[in-house]
Amino acid sequence: MFDIYTITRKNVKQMKAYSSARDEFKGQANICLDANENPFPTALNRYPDPQQSNLKAEISKQKNIQINQIFIGNGSDEAIDLLYRAFCEPGISKAIAFPPTYGMYEVLAAINNVELINIPLNKSFELPHLETIKSLLPDTGILFICSPNNPTGSSTSLKRIRELSENFKGLVVVDEAYIDFSEQETAISLLKYVPNLVVLQTFSKAYGLAGARVGMAFASSEIIAVLNKIKPPYNINSLSVDAAMKVLIDNKIKYQINTIKEERNQLTSQLVKLNIVSEVFPSDANFLFVRFVNSNLVFESLIKRGIVVRNRSSQVDNCLRITIGTKEENQTVMQALKELSANS
Ligand SMILES: *Cc1c(COP(=O)(O)O)cnc(C)c1O
Repeated sequence: MFDIYTITRKNVKQMKAYSSARDEFKGQANICLDANENPFPTALNRYPDPQQSNLKAEISKQKNIQINQIFIGNGSDEAIDLLYRAFCEPGISKAIAFPPTYGMYEVLAAINNVELINIPLNKSFELPHLETIKSLLPDTGILFICSPNNPTGSSTSLKRIRELSENFKGLVVVDEAYIDFSEQETAISLLKYVPNLVVLQTFSKAYGLAGARVGMAFASSEIIAVLNKIKPPYNINSLSVDAAMKVLIDNKIKYQINTIKEERNQLTSQLVKLNIVSEVFPSDANFLFVRFVNSNLVFESLIKRGIVVRNRSSQVDNCLRITIGTKEENQTVMQALKELSANS
């Protein structure tokens, strides 16, 4: 059975969290002389709320989850780093990822001296059979499922996520950075059944705030309490909190998401007709993963025209990841690819 106590690192269990001035006083104050701030008002002379209470209240309402089940990080990358630091003993615990996938699981594992076991996705970019995974599962640690997956665009069903969680004594982290572009429901709905699940989302992709660095982790209140204990006190700055509040309240992203999905379908149907393209993989995200006959040639030719896409051919043979841009940008890319096709 999953037990949060046994998987939390000893030093984390024993430490006392830093208590900031803003943590110790809550309520209405007329005069704040507790944090050595400059008293002359600018928009930013005060420290931000260490618990991001207003932002969490809005997320709680929109995503139908309790406030104490929400962690806000400086990007979801911060949440991934803190998960390693809280729940993986350096040099002892192991983590699992299913490549080709997001590179930060590996980088942050290395920084935290945690060995990452790579179990490749199968040919159709699905998780391997449960028995295969089970035979490689360590006793504790973290298992990362990126769904929809970067860079392949493929998703893992909630049924499989639940099944894997029930067969693992460590934490299962489902990275949903691209969930807003997917037809599949979020794994947040599984949190009431699965105690060892963490769901990551971000303001960096669909919400259009990559520059603000705001990520979210959803989990049991016990797991969230551990993350809050070890996070830097003021990890999210006031400007970023305000920006995140604004996109949530304005609620304009639905229109943008639909436009991006329409463009994704358009682009797919045009790409498959080109003789330089061998396969366009189905995508639940805001990018297409495309296999070319000669990806390096295409990559270099696009660069010469000032168009940069992501070359993933070192991970998957002859594959490039192309983010869906504006209609105009997509047309320019298609024009370039059509010319390459005609000349090949
Ligand atoms: C882009 C991306 C993120 C986002 O990270 P942030 O730190 O929130 O910007 C997380 N996971 C995956 C798989 C991504 O592709």
